[in-house]
Amino acid sequence: MPYVALTIDLDRDYPVPVSGALKAASYSPECKPSFTCTIKGLKALSSILEETGIKATFFIEARALQHINAQEEALVSIITRNEIGCHGLDHEDLAGKYTGISISPPRQLALIKKATEIISKITRSKPTGFRAPYLSTTPNLGEILRTLNYRYDSSIYLESFKPPHPYPLGCKVYEIPLPLYPLGERKASLYTWTLHEGKRSIDEFKQILDVYLANDDGGLLVISTHTWHLAYRISSNLKLSPQQVQENVSLLYSLITYLEDKGSTLLPIGEYLKKDKTKTGKSF
Ligand SMILES: [Zn+2]
Repeated sequence: MPYVALTIDLDRDYPVPVSGALKAASYSPECKPSFTCTIKGLKALSSILEETGIKATFFIEARALQHINAQEEALVSIITRNEIGCHGLDHEDLAGKYTGISISPPRQLALIKKATEIISKITRSKPTGFRAPYLSTTPNLGEILRTLNYRYDSSIYLESFKPPHPYPLGCKVYEIPLPLYPLGERKASLYTWTLHEGKRSIDEFKQILDVYLANDDGGLLVISTHTWHLAYRISSNLKLSPQQVQENVSLLYSLITYLEDKGSTLLPIGEYLKKDKTKTGKSF
């Protein structure tokens, strides 16, 4: 029975790093952070979660959550019915790969701690998993997460034809790898990015999933998306119409039901780790 986790990065509208700035911008002519598509996409996503009854894992940017809470407090309950994870404070590039800013380990700790406190307060639930913004990880991230009592990180790609197994980052913190499908030079991540941008058809995406399901040996297949991507097309810088949003909802719905029809169990990452512990006796 293949295990699949639907993970949702809940961050500002298409976040982009700005050279020399700690906080992310949104991709727009003004380069200011915006949250319109994040919120529109979250509403659209809630219908999928309700209809399928599955629980997802949300990796939440603390600032985005503050905006959601301030603008439409009722939407927070959509998030809290699922697993809560952290995705930074202001979507900062921890490794400074794209901003050129070097963030010291104590400063990284302080940023993630503050984000954790904000998310805990608004959701009334302490995040247990972390995903680095831009998947920009640092060598000391495992130690920082241990200090803050996180159980796992999920920010590192692993090339694989089968659902990857968690591995220790040290100090009881586990890495839940993001599968990367080796397709020659054009590797395929399981972010739904390509589907929403029209760069991969739903059938091509399903063919990739088929390979993972056929090779499953008890790992966890992590599939990822962003709420804003249901409501925004990057390639044409377009805020989508309600009908276009609905088309993206249908694509995601189709993927989930396909996986369920193939016998997959969709569950939050934390629940998988509990099962894995039961199975192997390993201490997660
Ligand atoms: Zn992000």
